[in-house]
This record gives sequence, structure tokens and C-alpha cells, in this order.
Amino acid sequence: MKISTIAVIMAMSEEAEPFIRAHGLQRADSVFDRQLPMDVFLGKVHGLDVSLVVCGKDPRFGVDSVGTQPATLSTYLAIERFKPDLLINAGTAGGFQAKGAEIGDVYVGSGCIRFHDRRIPLPGFEAYGVGSYPMPEFHQFAATLGLKRGIVSTGNSLDMAPEDLAMIQDNEGEVKEMEAAAIAWVADLYQVPLVALKSITDLVDSGRPTHEEFLENLSVASEALQAKLTAAIDYCACTDLSLA
Ligand code: SAH
Repeated sequence: MKISTIAVIMAMSEEAEPFIRAHGLQRADSVFDRQLPMDVFLGKVHGLDVSLVVCGKDPRFGVDSVGTQPATLSTYLAIERFKPDLLINAGTAGGFQAKGAEIGDVYVGSGCIRFHDRRIPLPGFEAYGVGSYPMPEFHQFAATLGLKRGIVSTGNSLDMAPEDLAMIQDNEGEVKEMEAAAIAWVADLYQVPLVALKSITDLVDSGRPTHEEFLENLSVASEALQAKLTAAIDYCACTDLSLA
């Protein structure tokens, strides 16, 4: 599969900042309807056209629009506007020290991407709730880039309710975050391949409050994310990702 256009979806401006700076991406105004909070940055990375859509500041609350609804909308807009050959969702996430995660590790979502907060115990709806959008195993890609591989599990909370933990365990989730499964749903509808890159800001089983760890490590994790995101784009420029 020849890739020439990549759309990157990121939830938070602080996650995106090192990547924008490293490649001198230029802000593009008025790409989407002016009511929408999404920020768009355009540029070339290793000869490929890269469009970065950051979910932007919520106009009512003034904070980054994290979570599934803005991610869904950003992905739809990016596909409609830029017709990318590939989507990359790059962001931060919680890891599990019991599964060997360390702060600053970058994972590539492999196998599938699932939800852990959509419990719908009705016939047929249970599987719909979990999602399980298929992803490649990415053995070669991960080995080349020095990434860990794991199942990404998505929900709309930063904390972890016992019901969510139980579902993450059922999901065999190793990477807990708030956007990837929503993005995978849109990518699946439009049949655009997706890579999820997730840099670990916090260890959800460390005993420390997640929000404290998250804020402490956001900057370091975002730098690690930018390095691996750049390497991933380089890989796509040189190697056929469908063989990964
Ligand atoms: N800015 C907020 C937190 C943002 S929510 C604050 O100041 O506290 C966390 C963002 O990072 C989401 O986009 C989510 O995808 C990711 N994330 C990082 N660690 C996470 C975790 N343990 N659980 C869920 N999402 C996490």
C-alpha cells in the first residue's frame, strides 16, 4: 500500500506541541466550520503530506476536548477534508506496571481496539459495546521502531471504576485511554487504515492518583510520542505498512 497522505488525530494541544515544533507544521485557519474547536496544522514530514487535527479547546469549558465525541468528529472531518491514505491517532495513555509498562514507553495498538465503558447486556449489543475493531499485529513495525505492542482500551474517564477495570481485564487491555476506539469506529466505517501510538503518562496500578502522575509526566511522554510518531511516518514513507 502506497501512502502519500497521513492524517494525525491528537486530543490535547500539549501532546501535539513537540510534533508541531519539530516539523514546523503551519496552523491552517478556516479549514472546518468556524463553530468547531478543532485546530489544524499542515506540513510535510519525510516527504509525506501530513495533516494534524487537534481536537481543540472546548468553547464552553476552555479545556482540551478529550474523550470520544470530539475524537469521532475530528476523525470524520479529517477523512472528509484530507482523504488520507492512513490515520494515526497519537496520544498519551495509562499503562499497567503488572504488564511491564513504564512511564514514557510508547505502545502501538495491536490486535484490536476496544471500549471498556459501554456495558450493554442485550442480545447482540454486548459485542457492539465492546467494539473490538481489528488492528494488525504490527510485529515488524514495532520491532523496527522500538515500540511495545498491546491492546488499547478506551473509555470516557481518566479514573478507573471497578466495572471499567473488570472490562479492561476481559478486553486484555494493556493501554488505557480515551479516544482510540472512537477513532477506530470511524476508520472502520471508511476503511481507512489506522495506527494508534500511545505514550504512557501514568501507571494505573501504581497506587498513585492518576491525575497527579499524568500531569507530572505529560511533557516527557509527549516528547517520546513525537519521536516515535516521526519515526512511524518515516517508516510509512519507506516501507509497506500492510506487511507490518
Ligand atoms: N488535562 C486533564 C486530563 C486530560 S484526560 C488534566 O489536566 O487532568 C487524559 C488524556 O490523556 C486523554 O486524552 C486520554 O486519552 C489520555 N490518558 C492518559 N492517561 C490516561 C489514563 N490513565 N486513563 C485514561 N486516559 C488517559
